[in-house]
Amino acid sequence: MKALVLGAGVTGLAAAYFLARDGHAVTVLDRRSGVALESSHANGGQLSYSYVAPLADPGVIRKLPGWLTDRDSPVRFRPRLDPAQWAWGMRFLAACNARTADATTRRLLRLSFLSRDLTRDAIEREGIACDFRRAGKLVVHADPAALDAARRLVDLQRSLGSEQRALTRDECLSAEPSLAGIAHRLAGGILTPGEDAAECRLFCAGLEQAMRGGNLGVDFRFGADARQILAVGGRVIGVATEAGVIEADAVVVAMGAGSARLLAPLGLRPPLYPLKGYSLTLPVTEDAAAPRISVTDASRKVVYARLGKTLRVAGMADLVGHDPRFDLSRLDLLVRQAHEAFPRATDWRTLNPWTGLRPATPTALPILGPTRALPNLHLDIGHGALGFTLAMGSGRVVADLLAGRAAPIAMDGLGAA
Ligand SMILES: Cc1cc2nc3c(=O)[nH]c(=O)nc-3n(C[C@H](O)[C@H](O)[C@H](O)COP(=O)(O)OP(=O)(O)OC[C@H]3O[C@@H](n4cnc5c(N)ncnc54)[C@H](O)[C@@H]3O)c2cc1C
Repeated sequence: MKALVLGAGVTGLAAAYFLARDGHAVTVLDRRSGVALESSHANGGQLSYSYVAPLADPGVIRKLPGWLTDRDSPVRFRPRLDPAQWAWGMRFLAACNARTADATTRRLLRLSFLSRDLTRDAIEREGIACDFRRAGKLVVHADPAALDAARRLVDLQRSLGSEQRALTRDECLSAEPSLAGIAHRLAGGILTPGEDAAECRLFCAGLEQAMRGGNLGVDFRFGADARQILAVGGRVIGVATEAGVIEADAVVVAMGAGSARLLAPLGLRPPLYPLKGYSLTLPVTEDAAAPRISVTDASRKVVYARLGKTLRVAGMADLVGHDPRFDLSRLDLLVRQAHEAFPRATDWRTLNPWTGLRPATPTALPILGPTRALPNLHLDIGHGALGFTLAMGSGRVVADLLAGRAAPIAMDGLGAA
């Protein structure tokens, strides 16, 4: 079968990889000049298989006034004259209850555990050099109430197969001594030894290389803007680009935050909205002053991962539309927070600042598989804050469904409408 994958971010590449391994003739198309040049470029680098709880949780209602007004809030919502933003916001608020959050966590864990095995397997099988480490992850809490809630979640997650431990403040410091600078702020933390970290951009480059070589022979078309998905008689026949039409037997949409725009003319309106985030890539100048374990500062929603000789710092979730520009007050906040946490980790002369748009759904569940209206149009979208973590599992699911096989995990809550 001729399969056309739209988008060369981590989700599109993962889907293409499994489609090619299934023996399909695969083309990957992207408007940019290479792989991983949008949201998959300099993300947090965390392969966060166990820590998947959604942003939409029952605590949100209490935090909402701060999100709307506080300049230093980790989440920022600036209302715009944009019906898509309001519709997303309403669905997000509707998902902020314990029942939905627990159901989402269960579904995401199923997908993330599948992804963990497939990501590790691909890195090993293809020899992908992507600064991969079984780093473990320590989520530290400043707020004792939030720590209590996190401890309760450990019990739920343990019952679902996650290996996690609650730590006191002192135990957090002995697990990760470089946290000494913010010890006064810490109430305790949750340690997940089995989490990984890697550079997403390099993982994508490795997948591309694997697909170009061997007997996979995937065709990459860069600098090609997909302008319209063409459907005739209830089936997709291909995609129109500036350079002409590319025909295919099946099309997989994996264009991240750009996906909604192309699906709308077909009457498909997945609840996708960009959540803007920022990252820094700091060259580590004092080894012992930078964390070895991946650290998440839960109240600030900032993540730290050691990637090669650098420390990746990522944070902020800003609901401000399709705008990749830097808001300097947000960048400044991230730099201040990173400096406060690990002041001697770098000399602060090189920050490598970056912004990316997380393709987010209100519940945090991605949307995977064939659409009802057009059965040979497949979606692989909506991976939000966990796209690197979930890409390989999602790609496997999409490839299986495209081939007419059963998905390897239960699909409740994950399928396309
Ligand atoms: C600050 C930040 C930190 C993050 N940290 C983590 C983390 O630690 N762990 C984790 O698991 N996830 C993390 N994420 C989320 C993760 O980066 C994303 O979920 C993931 O990169 C989404 O991948 P994607 O392939 O769906 O989208 P993208 O990487 O954005 O790829 C979409 C591709 O589609 C192409 N495209 C779009 N429209 C068109 C068109 N019309 N024609 C042709 N091509 C088109 C784009 O050029 C792009 O290459 C983070 C995100 C951000 C922003």
